Amino acid sequence: MNDIIVGIDLGTTNSAIGVVDSGFPILLADEEGKRIMPSAVWLNEDGMVEIGRKALRRRALDGGRVITSVKRLVGRDLDPADRENLLGKSAEEISALILGELKRVAEWRLGHAVHKAVITVPAYFHDGQRQATKRAGEMAGLEVVRIINEPTAAALSYGLDQLGDRSRVAVYDLGGGTFDLSILEMQEGVFQVLATHGDTQLGGDDLDRTMASAMARRAGIELEQLNQQERSRWLMEAERVKCSLSQRDDETFVLPFYEREKSFSALLTQAQWNEWMQPWIARTIACCHKALNDARLLPNEVDAVVLVGGSTRIPAVRAAVEACFGKVADVSQHPDEAIALGATIQAGMLSGAMKQMVLLDITPLSLGIETLGGLMNVLIPRNTTIPCKAGEMFTNAVAGQKAMRIRVLQGEREMARDNWELGQVDVPFAPAPKGQARIGVQFRLDENGILEVLARDVATGIDQVLVIEHSAVDVSDAKVEQMVSESVEHAFSDMAERVWTEAKLKAEELLPAVEAALAIGHEWLSAEERQSIDASVAAVKAALLQTEARVLKQAVQKLDQATEALAAKIVEQAMERAIEQQLMN
Ligand code: AMP
Repeated sequence: MNDIIVGIDLGTTNSAIGVVDSGFPILLADEEGKRIMPSAVWLNEDGMVEIGRKALRRRALDGGRVITSVKRLVGRDLDPADRENLLGKSAEEISALILGELKRVAEWRLGHAVHKAVITVPAYFHDGQRQATKRAGEMAGLEVVRIINEPTAAALSYGLDQLGDRSRVAVYDLGGGTFDLSILEMQEGVFQVLATHGDTQLGGDDLDRTMASAMARRAGIELEQLNQQERSRWLMEAERVKCSLSQRDDETFVLPFYEREKSFSALLTQAQWNEWMQPWIARTIACCHKALNDARLLPNEVDAVVLVGGSTRIPAVRAAVEACFGKVADVSQHPDEAIALGATIQAGMLSGAMKQMVLLDITPLSLGIETLGGLMNVLIPRNTTIPCKAGEMFTNAVAGQKAMRIRVLQGEREMARDNWELGQVDVPFAPAPKGQARIGVQFRLDENGILEVLARDVATGIDQVLVIEHSAVDVSDAKVEQMVSESVEHAFSDMAERVWTEAKLKAEELLPAVEAALAIGHEWLSAEERQSIDASVAAVKAALLQTEARVLKQAVQKLDQATEALAAKIVEQAMERAIEQQLMN
């Protein structure tokens, strides 16, 4: 197990670590279940250290000793102010603490030591910054087997390496502290960076500051003049409101007890917020144009646009990028996790773990059970990726019924009899009035195509299990083709039969119910209402004698409507009676 390689996204704001497990890239969660770790370090004078979320928790009380955004300083000459912010450490040492914590989480999760890693860096990092990142890894006890570009990692996580040679991908990455736009081109199986433009001082933090300053000004305060502790309270609230406005039309900015007894509260709309953000968004779009220009490409020559970084959750950001490239952006991956996942995929490719990737199979035909009226009830539709599971609740059709037969079917036809039976099992249950028994049926199809059918009487919790070893997935192409073409050929008549059967079942349920309702509530009906119900009943009975599905369905619907008021009245009366009863007791 020693040649396992982890993938690490060492981000400005957040970091994450992952590994390929059984062919799948996964990110590893810490003890709190979090896969994303803030890139923050708290150091006190006595050499105590806290990293990640624990470090951030110190921000409100001991903000001056919490180091964030160290990535901006890695591999650079530091000025005295930076040195002071780093509390006498080097940027590499602080990065090494973050990497060490990620390594610890991975080792704890995996249960063994980790020695090798792939680490991502921004595409614009120069050699000195790459070397410094590598050294930080080594300080944390990791052999850095490769440094890869963040946009490349993002593209890998989106599976864009599958797009084929010469395909071009734009990766728009707006995180907490930095922005960059990279244009990649796949050349002989490897992504090359055609152009990259960015702004190392532009990100979600700037948005927080914009909002906090504007709000503070409304309260008559200059944010820059506050002490660090007070300022971070305004900034934290701004970040909360910002994230909320990515989902809501408005949000209230609330800061209780600033300056001892004063409290501040103001409503901010998404429209207003979009306006405040506009200059920042415009700056990122200008970078997109520059990068396209450098790559000598028109926006429509880019095949895919992917968004990464937490700030791309902002709807106005997404809209601006889509307008710039004239293309809907791919946002199917988690924006905070895409880079770490890509690093993990790269690590898996290097260690060979990715080769064990399981080829996902799909179900060639639908799987289901027969239900009332001889209908096919599909639980797992055709073309579902396996392994998979699905379930549904069923009930008894007849009062006093003691068992339910579950017939497991495969095929695309509407009627059970036209599909293939894979097996059957009888599920006994305690006799109950019609519709009162509850039988849960679950289909579980594992990666080997073995279908396990579990049927449970909810009342007793007793399970019946039927295992179908073969044929659930293992069907010859010719048979699949025959089944599918027959289902297409008979689609019309099949559907008519289903509609007919369903309407007939409904009619058979409704007619006795209407009769019972009339017996109770006939005196509440006007002559007109009575006439309408009688006519509807007659229409349903007449329709049952023909075999025109549509006519029966309409007649049943009409009867349902005609008796709606009566049914409501009966329920109302019953309730009143129950209440009276209660009052009398
Ligand atoms: P990253 O550096 O990619 O982890 O991104 C972190 C940044 O994304 C921070 O500035 C967050 O405030 C921001 N962010 C996260 N979620 C949202 C959201 N729902 N709306 C706006 N910004 C967000």
